[in-house]
Amino acid sequence: MEPIYLSPPHMGPQERALLLDAFDSNWIAPLGPHVDAFEQEFALRVDIGHAAALSSGTAALHLALLVLGVGPGDEVVTSSLTFAATANAITYVGAIPVFIDADRSTWTMDPQLLAEELDACAARGRLPKAVIVVDLYGQCADYDALRASCERYDVPIIEDAAVALGATYGGKAAGKLGDLGVFSFNGNKIITTSGGGMLASDRGDWIEKARFLSTQARDPAPHYEHSQIGYNYRMSNLLAAVGRGQLALLDQRVEERRANNVFYRSALRAWYGIEFMPEAPYGRSNCWLTCLLVDPERLGVTTEDIRAHLEKVNIEARPVWKPMHLQTAFSNHRMRGGEVSSDLFQRGLCLPSGSSLTEADRARILDALASVPGLRAASRPTPDEEGSACS
Ligand SMILES: *Cc1c(COP(=O)(O)O)cnc(C)c1O
Repeated sequence: MEPIYLSPPHMGPQERALLLDAFDSNWIAPLGPHVDAFEQEFALRVDIGHAAALSSGTAALHLALLVLGVGPGDEVVTSSLTFAATANAITYVGAIPVFIDADRSTWTMDPQLLAEELDACAARGRLPKAVIVVDLYGQCADYDALRASCERYDVPIIEDAAVALGATYGGKAAGKLGDLGVFSFNGNKIITTSGGGMLASDRGDWIEKARFLSTQARDPAPHYEHSQIGYNYRMSNLLAAVGRGQLALLDQRVEERRANNVFYRSALRAWYGIEFMPEAPYGRSNCWLTCLLVDPERLGVTTEDIRAHLEKVNIEARPVWKPMHLQTAFSNHRMRGGEVSSDLFQRGLCLPSGSSLTEADRARILDALASVPGLRAASRPTPDEEGSACS
């Protein structure tokens, strides 16, 4: 049986034509007309002043921290429930990650806990240099609440919108809700360039600085002159061409992923012991991945039972991120709260959510879910899940 992947790339003729155009033009370098055009089109789409196309989302996080002047010994507060790249980037500049638990109603950073952490930092006389807020699985965090505490102490926000391109918060595009926005075009994201990223901001001087650092910090001179340490983080012109084709189809990709979410919610509506990641009322998720929470007592099986059974029939599902405070690499760092993200990791599962998922794929996934050994006959609808679909 053909594999059904969690979130495979979804390419079309437009991307192919643009890639060949870039190839034929011989702009085969981390610069060229497609890089410039991709940045402009991207900034327009997100409605943000400036954008720098980079080699990865991780590079964008690293440069965001450098642009804000974060350095050795500084603290940076972030969500525990995230992909490791967020926390890794903090260590690249020698800074110290401090973790905040998730809010059960959104799975994103708990604004109350952030407020408490910043108050405690202020009381100690040592504020963090930045807060990296993560838009989880395509859903924006609650920026009005988070911003309020950050503004009180004048701490800048980096929005990790790596997976949230196309989502909105109060009508604003994900990625423009902090001081700097980070995006990823890795192979599994909602649009992809195989690997790539973008750093965006309304502050033109910051994006200019990021571009400078991303191209080995070359000072203006005919020879190679360097007054600062730089990086090789610029996006290839070939990949930018692919990105332009993908970006043009973003709206469609969001609708396809949201349709997957509606499908799962409606197909599993009657299952007793399953609930879905809630969609917060303040915004619209891009539904990058559809995630559910299992109650093993009621369902008769655990998330791992489901995942392992799907794997046997060549269907890829993944546990929710293992929180950073439970990772060996970060276990000695400060953590505020922790029960919520630990529980989401224990009981959460991400289902195949690609925008190219077919009707036949969906039927196969549903059959496989219904045949997990030990599953308790599931026929009682849970009324609180009715009408809460991501639609
Ligand atoms: C994918 C991802 C990143 C890193 O992006 P890359 O392009 O893979 O380096 C950062 N943060 C989150 C939340 C991600 O999902």
